[in-house]
Amino acid sequence: MTKSGAAANLTDPGKTKSVVIVGGGTAGWMTAAYLKAAFGDRIDVTVVESAHIGSIGVGEATFSDIRHFFEFLRLEESDWMPACNATYKLGVRFEDWREPGHHFYHPFEQLGSVDGFPLSDWWLRMPQSSRFDRDCFVMAALCDAERSPRYADGTPLAQGVFENVGGGQSARSNIAEYQGAQFPYAYHFEAHLLAKFLTKYGTDRGVKHITDNVVDVALDEQGFVSHVDTAENGRLSGDLYIDCTGFRALLLKQALGEPFVSFQDTLPNNSAVALQVPMDMERKAIRPCTTATAQDAGWIWTIPLISRIGTGYVYADEYLSAEDAEKTLREFVGPEAADIPANHIKMRIGRSERSWVKNVVGIGLAAGFVEPLESTGIFFIHHAIEQIVRYFPGGRDDDVRRDAFNRSIEHVMEGVREFLCLHYVGAKRADNQYWKDTKTRKIPDALAERIEIWKHKVPDSESVYPYYHGLPPYSYNCILLGAGGIEVKHSPALDLADPTAAQVEFDRIRLKADKLVQELPSQNEFFAAMRANA
Ligand code: FAD
Repeated sequence: MTKSGAAANLTDPGKTKSVVIVGGGTAGWMTAAYLKAAFGDRIDVTVVESAHIGSIGVGEATFSDIRHFFEFLRLEESDWMPACNATYKLGVRFEDWREPGHHFYHPFEQLGSVDGFPLSDWWLRMPQSSRFDRDCFVMAALCDAERSPRYADGTPLAQGVFENVGGGQSARSNIAEYQGAQFPYAYHFEAHLLAKFLTKYGTDRGVKHITDNVVDVALDEQGFVSHVDTAENGRLSGDLYIDCTGFRALLLKQALGEPFVSFQDTLPNNSAVALQVPMDMERKAIRPCTTATAQDAGWIWTIPLISRIGTGYVYADEYLSAEDAEKTLREFVGPEAADIPANHIKMRIGRSERSWVKNVVGIGLAAGFVEPLESTGIFFIHHAIEQIVRYFPGGRDDDVRRDAFNRSIEHVMEGVREFLCLHYVGAKRADNQYWKDTKTRKIPDALAERIEIWKHKVPDSESVYPYYHGLPPYSYNCILLGAGGIEVKHSPALDLADPTAAQVEFDRIRLKADKLVQELPSQNEFFAAMRANA
């Protein structure tokens, strides 16, 4: 980092007109594409990415909110899904978190309520089976039966939620507009193909793309970045700099020295080993969910794509060596894993104290990361991009907007931290030191208080983390009642209430699930039909 005596870089202090994005992974290209979609030619966007420093190469499962990202870019599924080998995801399937052989889902489906009580509360009072998820959500049956969320002719299973909120004027929306709604599915895609797709999207719309290494970051006398130096393309300067350099956090941490708030004390998994396993998906079922299978020192993700499976073991290096993690992962995958190179990753778990400092905004791994148990990495990116557009800097004197942005990023990450901690403290599994420690490890104080409440009253909007973090109360119900390690009681009022309407609702869910399982194609059938019609 160098200090420059040069005057402030702003050509017009009243306006931010040029943005330099350092880093071209998922975060860099999602940001570039979105800024162009938002501001068109009224803004200059440059992406500089290194040819030598690779992107992380993982990050292939998403949240259902991702739909707003593609919608904002005015992209249809048929525009981008085939190019990214994408598949549908109806939720997360958790295997062996309660006990070996058990599984449950966290689906993309809101929980119903009857007579003012969440269906989960009624389920505790009158379980229809041992499966909370199957009794309370239609999606769990679709995941078990490996169905596609679209009919063979392309019609989505829940037509109503796909109608746009712009009164037909615009096909665009953002997460904030839909916070009460829940889309029934998200996507899996190949991360490098998405970056490639978005590179073309961005450069077609005027994003300047430079392949080079940033070797120095210069600050002016006020501590703002005045320019960055590249190895071969000289000096790049802009009004706003977006740090998308991954865990390196070249601008935010290395140049500006912003402190990092580690989550390691509450979320100890800090390592991963990943494999990309080619599969003949025409023969193997494409499960419509991400699977998280509990292991001795963490868990293994399985993400089915069109031509391969993305898989990896997320673990705590305090309990397991990298060598043993790779061995376990290879055994888990079976013979298909032979000869495939493994990608070992050290994860920096936590968040930058502030994501926006001076004229630098960190997005993606540079700003923070929690283990990918609920596929929140790309959601963090998407959320941050929407917030930067919302709070877009007018000039340097922008403390109020900067603070609002930083609060919103902090809330999202701290809320997700609580939610992830619940998976471990709430899992019944306690069969070795790793899992025993999950029951005694420090958790955020507020979560500990909430759990005491949830033992007597299932999570609702009044008792979950109070700020927006992408996870509605139903998500907490899924983990609490699915993972099974915390005993939850139903409300005494339900012993006195008439259960007829609740029974009708349970019956309706079962009948609807049975009908959809019969009607919907498998993902294999759906994508085969799509290819045939292309
Ligand atoms: P990177 O991919 O690391 O990209 C960094 C970029 O910066 C690269 O282009 C590099 O060339 C460039 N760069 C670095 N230094 C310089 C320099 N000096 N000059 C120029 N360029 C430079 N998220 C999900 O949503 N779902 C998941 O299932 C999921 N799984 C994950 C599993 C693991 C094990 C990990 C670690 C993460 C996972 N994530 C997941 C998170 C997701 O991978 C990231 O959020 C996402 O890929 C964004 O990464 P990034 O672009 O911030 O960083």
